[in-house]
Amino acid sequence: MIDLDKSLRTDCKQCFGLCCVALYFSASEGFPTDKESGKSCINLKSDFKCSIHNNLRNQGLKGCTAYDCFGAGQKVAKVTYKGCDWRDEKISSNEMFDVFLIMRQLHEMLWYLNQAISLKENYSIHDKIRTIIEDTEKLTYLDGKSLIGLDIVSHKNKVNVLLLETSEIVRNKVLNGQKKLPKIPRGLDCIGSDLRNVNLKGANLRGSLLIATNLRGVDLSKADLIGADLRDADIRGANLSDCIFITQSQINTAKGDSSTKLPKSLNRPFYWEK
Ligand code: SF4
Repeated sequence: MIDLDKSLRTDCKQCFGLCCVALYFSASEGFPTDKESGKSCINLKSDFKCSIHNNLRNQGLKGCTAYDCFGAGQKVAKVTYKGCDWRDEKISSNEMFDVFLIMRQLHEMLWYLNQAISLKENYSIHDKIRTIIEDTEKLTYLDGKSLIGLDIVSHKNKVNVLLLETSEIVRNKVLNGQKKLPKIPRGLDCIGSDLRNVNLKGANLRGSLLIATNLRGVDLSKADLIGADLRDADIRGANLSDCIFITQSQINTAKGDSSTKLPKSLNRPFYWEK
């Protein structure tokens, strides 16, 4: 996997706390209380720093440590609005918040596409992936109004076609010759299940509810984890070093340790067991 571009990594120092204001927080998703979108979090200081940054998990704000904007925050702050923050009277804060949500989707697509083009197995479709990366990057430089007017769903659909194609090619290389595919519990049945004895190499785990599953020591090589919910999944000692389409946010919500093997592009959360 390539060392993904710095521009797709969250850099809070270059942002105006956009995620701390624009997003809706739900008490059921790692926040102590609900918060309306567009309303500043009570812990956000006037210099856009978080007053409890080093203590988020102890204060019941796991959701903040899990969130990843894929660098959309700094792009909106520094490029789209050229350094004007959401308190500036010259701009519409609501427009800026809407733009942030669109930019995050575009940057998330770029994250996955950059992963896709770093793989060797799907070389035959690299040209198509390169073209859509260029198209997506161009969209991120549109002005606020044009970004809001974008048909983001149709662009996402085009991206998804290539991500799916990549997944098929990569996983088929692993699954070739395997007569019987492993039976993986689906939907709600998957939550809390023990998957330690299931062969998950090359598995299709797209959007799976892997919440609180036991994946301890499991080899997830070339498994597709796009959109999989790994909250509280036990991945101690698991091998995720070359699974595909995984994000920092998924890793941040799981329970790993120093023996969990991660892709080079992702960081080991400081709060994991040693
Ligand atoms: S607690 Fe800190 S990081 Fe979380 S939303 Fe509030 S200001 Fe942002």
